[in-house]
Amino acid sequence: MTTLPLNPALGDLPVYQPGRPIDEVARELGLPVGQVIKLASNENPLGPSPRALEAMGRALAQLHLYPDGSAFYLKARLAAQLGVTPEHLILGNGSNEIIEFIGHALMRPGAEVVVSQYCFAIYPIIARMMGARVVTVPSVKLGHDLPAMARAVSPATTVMFVANPNNPTGTLSSPDEVRALVASVPPHVLLVMDEAYVEFLETPLDLVGEVREGARPNLLLMRTFSKIHGLAGLRLGYGIASPSLIAVLEKVRQPFNINALVQAGALAALEDTAHVERTRANNREGLAYYERELAALGYPLVPSAANFFLVRVGNGQRVFTELQKRGIITRPMAGYQLPEYLRISVGTPAENRRCVEALREVLAKAG
Ligand SMILES: *Cc1c(COP(=O)(O)O)cnc(C)c1O
Repeated sequence: MTTLPLNPALGDLPVYQPGRPIDEVARELGLPVGQVIKLASNENPLGPSPRALEAMGRALAQLHLYPDGSAFYLKARLAAQLGVTPEHLILGNGSNEIIEFIGHALMRPGAEVVVSQYCFAIYPIIARMMGARVVTVPSVKLGHDLPAMARAVSPATTVMFVANPNNPTGTLSSPDEVRALVASVPPHVLLVMDEAYVEFLETPLDLVGEVREGARPNLLLMRTFSKIHGLAGLRLGYGIASPSLIAVLEKVRQPFNINALVQAGALAALEDTAHVERTRANNREGLAYYERELAALGYPLVPSAANFFLVRVGNGQRVFTELQKRGIITRPMAGYQLPEYLRISVGTPAENRRCVEALREVLAKAG
């Protein structure tokens, strides 16, 4: 134990448990790296956009220079695509960093942060790190109970987080409920709509208009390049909100948090709409395949609107371990209080077939 006078909030703060890296699992099992597949972190199985790779290659020779701290071209391109101004945008080292900006700006001892049961693990971690109190609203059928979340707001509430689609459950809230929530959150509460998986939806509810028109200074939309754009290793997320809120969040952002390779790669990825389209199609077909196959095995998956799904397998840790022995990394859910479930990300068709075959074997000897 360290005897340093630590921030008391750190005492029992858990450490986030990410999906296991391919190299680590291969090392541990003595398997060649090429035989291990990762379906654990909702990454894009088709890889990064080839255009992003090319653009980053061109940027390498300039790495002795600091990046543009304002990410001028990337923000301008994103703003044009969204129909907002660059002043409506803040960029983070992953959207995880945006959550941290929100923490610095709005969380402190005495503040309350409203989340749902089975929410993205980073929200309560950041809230507790900042000394705020986490108010967890019970979920309904693994999804968000948005009316109950609205009722959980108190005078002490400063932030509410809603991921839609949600991770780890894959559930989607109805557009009517989301609209009602956006309209009902009082001005002293920042509503963060985490849209990490919004690009996988065929007909997403468009909340950018609410921000664009300036009617909701307490609404922030969060998106990422880690999922459909296939750039999780690069680290880029962004927030869309009123310029007055963005200006506040800019105060807690480090000047060069978005490095030069990110700026070059993301700009090119935005242009590569064909890659996004291919990814969406691969996901649609992959999800349908798992739906059919797992139903046939007697383990229907939890209906998902994202690029992953939950499936109730009994002993999630056992099935995770058995799949891992077969070179397939998935995500056990005990840390999310869902020990009977496994979360599986949609892969390529070949990866999905391999995963279903392994599940058939492992679930047949179910204990
Ligand atoms: C994956 C994910 C993110 C994205 O995190 P990054 O830091 O951008 O990689 C954000 N929110 C949710 C709910 C996610 O599942």
